[in-house]
Amino acid sequence: MTGLLPCTSSDTCQTDTACHRPPRFQAHLDAPQHAQRPRVRRRTEACASHLGAMVQAMTIWAREQELADGDLTILTINPSSGASRPGQPHSDTQTSGLVFSTIHLGH
Ligand SMILES: [Zn+2]
Repeated sequence: MTGLLPCTSSDTCQTDTACHRPPRFQAHLDAPQHAQRPRVRRRTEACASHLGAMVQAMTIWAREQELADGDLTILTINPSSGASRPGQPHSDTQTSGLVFSTIHLGH
């Protein structure tokens, strides 16, 4: 599946707390509802340097939650227009993401 998805972008990379680069990639994890658990939705963002680490962290987390029927969608996103300013409240910017990969978590 490819296409554009509306999404929000935060100011900085969320994969490494020491990284202050603007995120360029976003991962959406979506697993349908089950008898044993509600629907799971989660998203995180990473700069280009931390794309691999983000995907790995999300797939490990999904495996720990036993989300064998979920999909991990990777988007490229426009960088946040407002530069991160120290002392300012964290704000999400509305943007759109281009889906470039969907990883099915099933076996
Ligand atoms: Zn980063």
